[in-house]
Amino acid sequence: MSRVYNFSAGPAVLPEEVLQEAAEEMLDYRGSGMSVMEMSHRSKVYDDIIKGAEATLRRLMNISDEYEVLFLQGGASTQFAMIPMNLMKNRVADYIITGQWAKKAWQEAQKYGQANAVASSADQTFSYIPDCSDLPISPDADYVYITENNTIYGTKYHTLPNTKGKILVSDASSCFLSEPVDINNYGLYYGGAQKNVGPAGVVIVIIRKDLIREDVLPGTPTMLTYKIHADNASLYNTPPCYGIYICGKVFEWLEKNGGLAAMKEKNVKKAKILYDFLDQSQLFKGTVRREDRSLMNVPFVTGDADLDALFVKESKAAGFENLKGHRTVGGMRASIYNAMPIEGVEKLVAFMKDFEEAHLK
Ligand SMILES: *Cc1c(COP(=O)(O)O)cnc(C)c1O
Repeated sequence: MSRVYNFSAGPAVLPEEVLQEAAEEMLDYRGSGMSVMEMSHRSKVYDDIIKGAEATLRRLMNISDEYEVLFLQGGASTQFAMIPMNLMKNRVADYIITGQWAKKAWQEAQKYGQANAVASSADQTFSYIPDCSDLPISPDADYVYITENNTIYGTKYHTLPNTKGKILVSDASSCFLSEPVDINNYGLYYGGAQKNVGPAGVVIVIIRKDLIREDVLPGTPTMLTYKIHADNASLYNTPPCYGIYICGKVFEWLEKNGGLAAMKEKNVKKAKILYDFLDQSQLFKGTVRREDRSLMNVPFVTGDADLDALFVKESKAAGFENLKGHRTVGGMRASIYNAMPIEGVEKLVAFMKDFEEAHLK
């Protein structure tokens, strides 16, 4: 068996111990005689899995009883519709456009009401986070929406926007569990699992209980109503059982490794290795404004498209996978989520140094 250093933006690298444990439990989950994939979601053994996952996540993130934790499906993109359908009482919401995912969420919300773009960094290819200290927040906005870590462009909010008292909704798909967060700052905080937590399809929604209401927008499907899922403890219908089981294992892995503070420390260290190299390199350049850099996604370029392509090709041959940048940015992107070991980044930087020496004119 040989595993590569996988820098994919998502689905992405998972902790090896988690995969190993899942493999060991594949045919016979703890004496049940079946795989978690094969068991009833109404069984006691599965109930322990989903309840256990929620309990571990609550401990990890220090989530109070004022919040509901929901394991839903449809990926992060389904939330682009579910959020306005459930929260747009006044049919007004303010969106901050910091990349493609924010833009998609904003466009989707326009189907349900007046979705205002109150700030944007589109003018510079989303390479920065706009100043959000004094935005023209709409007086009747039901919420203010952000994409907290911009997976494609490699930016992250290091200060949350001043929402002027409005509820903050955050798509944290690509920074979920990467560092401690104060969940009390949010009305709704959600993430698709496949960036930092588990298999694609699962989306974790943490929502303040008073925002879960029956009077959603007319025509809202049952399956897209938070209240239905909250009332049924994420078991209204068959949930993505196996995916939730893996998420639970990742939560346990995080807890065993010191929780989110320890994870942040590791992530800062990892990102610093890469950013420090980029800052002094004669060949490679980061594409993001320094103070807005993400700990999770690091885009960089050489400035020469042919050389970028050569780098992607040669890095792949050397065992570094998925370093090609998003098509809208070009160049390269290294996603260094929780499960990427420090040595993966160290080896990547060593490879980049060699490449620089070979190609610097
Ligand atoms: C990947 C990603 C999405 C889309 O996730 P899907 O599960 O494919 O719908 C949305 N937002 C962010 C920030 C992402 O990184």
